[in-house]
Amino acid sequence: MMPVTAALIVAAGRGSRFGGALPKQYARLGGVPVLRRTLQAFARHPRVAAVLAVIHPDDAALYAGAADGIGLAAPVHGGATRQASVRAGLEALASLRPDLVLIHDGARPLVSPATITRVIDALATVRAALPALPVVDSLKRSSDGGFVAGTAERAGLWRAQTPQGFAFPAILEAHRRFAALDLSDDTGLAERAGIPVALVPGEEDNLKITSQDDLVRAERILAADMETRTGTGFDVHRFGDGDAVTLCGVRITHGRGLQGHSDADVGLHALTDALLGAIAAEDIGAHFPPSDPRWRGADSARFLAHAAELVRARGGTIVHVDVTLICEAPRVGPHRAAMRARLAEILAVDVARCSVKATTTEGLGAFGRREGIGAQAVATIRMPALP
Ligand code: MG
Repeated sequence: MMPVTAALIVAAGRGSRFGGALPKQYARLGGVPVLRRTLQAFARHPRVAAVLAVIHPDDAALYAGAADGIGLAAPVHGGATRQASVRAGLEALASLRPDLVLIHDGARPLVSPATITRVIDALATVRAALPALPVVDSLKRSSDGGFVAGTAERAGLWRAQTPQGFAFPAILEAHRRFAALDLSDDTGLAERAGIPVALVPGEEDNLKITSQDDLVRAERILAADMETRTGTGFDVHRFGDGDAVTLCGVRITHGRGLQGHSDADVGLHALTDALLGAIAAEDIGAHFPPSDPRWRGADSARFLAHAAELVRARGGTIVHVDVTLICEAPRVGPHRAAMRARLAEILAVDVARCSVKATTTEGLGAFGRREGIGAQAVATIRMPALP
């Protein structure tokens, strides 16, 4: 039988070394809270059955935001020390009776599936496993910080990372027995309890975010794993009776209206298709069929918000959108600022990432004859690179 593995994510720290307005585990990394990335790394791993977070009671709202939509059990509140926090989490997991537990720092968001797998694999034959890297730099001792006082032997020294994996009953027992101690990691407790700890290879990218510099480094690592995508969209709606048109989410009084099943906002339709194109997710008609009565007269903001949500669901971020409206009238210029602001609002991105342009066709063709309004759009996104 496959062992049942639970992951305990320790995120109750205050991170005094980090600075900034938020505890480090809630700082944004690639637009997403650090802790969200950590939780997802385990929630998405096929061999992890349950993920439980230990948080600081003051962070309940931050945690709710970071864990939104992942579908985890309610978090546990941590104790006065890291060790007390881990113990609280283990006690909460006890009713689940997992065979194995992976104890992981909430501030190590870049842990790879391969590292998680290595730790679980090691636990097939041992009761404790530690991902670690050998120390390669020379180690110096200093008494006053300014001068070297000696050289330490680095042979046989390792840098401990997480997730540290354990047979669940063994580590729970060790935590209960040594509850009075305050050790910096859980394999330290295993050592005290006489449980042999196996070393498995860690990874340099599995860094712990303790400073703003670490966050910058993590952003660089993440960026190296992203690809840039662009998508284009094009749409046309015909003029009909009416006294206003809606363009890029802004209603403009006009002698005529635009015909369409929804609100006929060509700008938002073209942009929705551009975003869908960037993630190769069909087109607006496939997601919102004109035959569906639900979309009669619909606010097209809904279509665009859905496309943006699909981009984010793939781990993507919207870098830039650019819409060109094609018509002789109405004049777009006076409404450009309002349109850009509305795009920014719908897409939940900065207005500096939203461009709206307009052109006439010099009286030529269908747009020149004022038979309708056209729009084309380009969307640029960043998303995790495909393998
Ligand atoms: Mg349309």
